[in-house]
Amino acid sequence: MRYVIIGASAAGINAAKTLRELDNLSEIVIISKDTDVYSRCMLHHVISGNRDLEKIAFVDKDFFSKNNIKWVKGIEVTDINTDEKQVVLENGTIEKYDKLLIATGASSFVPPVKNLREAKGVYSLRDYADVLNIEEGIKKSKKAVILGAGLVGIDSAIGLMERGIKLSIVEMGNRILPLQLDQKGADRYQKLFKDKAVDIYTSVSLEEVILKEDGYVSKAKLSDGTLIDCDMIVVAAGVRPNINFIKNTSINVNKGIVIDKNCRTSEKDIYAAGDVTFTAPIWPIAVKQGIAAAYNMYGEERVFDDTFALRNSMNFLGLETVSLGIVEAPDNSYTVDIIETKNVYKKVIHKDGIIYGAILLGDISYCGVLHQLIKNKINISNINKNIFKIDYADFFNVQKDGQYKYEFV
Ligand SMILES: Cc1cc2nc3c(=O)[nH]c(=O)nc-3n(C[C@H](O)[C@H](O)[C@H](O)COP(=O)(O)OP(=O)(O)OC[C@H]3O[C@@H](n4cnc5c(N)ncnc54)[C@H](O)[C@@H]3O)c2cc1C
Repeated sequence: MRYVIIGASAAGINAAKTLRELDNLSEIVIISKDTDVYSRCMLHHVISGNRDLEKIAFVDKDFFSKNNIKWVKGIEVTDINTDEKQVVLENGTIEKYDKLLIATGASSFVPPVKNLREAKGVYSLRDYADVLNIEEGIKKSKKAVILGAGLVGIDSAIGLMERGIKLSIVEMGNRILPLQLDQKGADRYQKLFKDKAVDIYTSVSLEEVILKEDGYVSKAKLSDGTLIDCDMIVVAAGVRPNINFIKNTSINVNKGIVIDKNCRTSEKDIYAAGDVTFTAPIWPIAVKQGIAAAYNMYGEERVFDDTFALRNSMNFLGLETVSLGIVEAPDNSYTVDIIETKNVYKKVIHKDGIIYGAILLGDISYCGVLHQLIKNKINISNINKNIFKIDYADFFNVQKDGQYKYEFV
């Protein structure tokens, strides 16, 4: 058996590791554009100067040799021939597969704003190569605009802030981190950013980039007419799956590659995992799909049914937060319980005894219990306690035979 995996990141590496654990004899080949294995979630630490490439690696240096995995690195896959079961590389080389995993992730999307795509001094943050480009930009820049205030935008802001760049963050939504926080939670972070002299513009979009004569960015013009002086722009306005190389196949694509519960694509013996499937573009989902795909490629059925995609933990500017599930009640039929103190903001959204979402900001000690309650849809109607004080002990029952039963599992 010859397993070929395209992509050497969260999904691909975890798939390879799992395959090797399951199957000691078969050939495993990983092909990637990346020449290093590293955590994209930590790239901002490299920008800030707090870590280097080695310190954001998530496998040991001898991972490939120890696991007897052939790694074809620094090269792009340009085509797949499904009739011949071959992967074609940009230099014309061919890798044959019996089972193939596509774990090619996604790339930053640069919106079609006037002059944005053509301008010099515009960067995105997805790969280590982007970090090197941003590093060059920092040398020539004093003021940056961050376009988009999701996790990647805020990561970029933190990295640049620590390098002394004056920042303006522009977000189309009405608050920063709109998927992770409600307005009150976002307000607390916005205040921390403002205390650090970061300007935040919400409910506006970038309308045009005004260029200098040499083609470098000079100003960002917003939809409300505001002009922001800048010498670099970091675009963090979403991602698109890396799927160019499947154009000659009949693999089904919706927003990303469509997979079934076993991570199988519509094409025989081809699986997909991670951001390329557009399930939820977060690290833990990519890891879990990579592992599930490996089991199924090996022939041992493993269902990927993690509906708990919306879990985010962050720690920006010293303020820790975990958000779980939904962050706003969809309508008035939901009950929302809130605790607010100077340093803490906690919110739980529930209905008919089931918790659908929570924000724990400033004190995340309750997140383990909440995670289980939300993930397993545990009904808490019979627990007559303050919703913020429920703990694991409330789910232990003593059976008639004297044994303890744990209701979570
Ligand atoms: C700055 C930043 C911060 C983030 N912060 C968080 C966070 O706090 N929490 C969180 O959960 N998630 C975060 N994410 C998202 C997380 O990093 C992704 O969900 C995760 O990396 C997805 O893993 P993946 O294996 O699917 O794809 P990727 O990590 O995108 O890896 C894709 C792999 O495929 C290779 N590849 C692509 N195309 C080709 C091709 N044609 N030929 C050969 N190789 C190819 C690439 O070289 C790479 O090795 C962040 C992402 C970024 C960029």
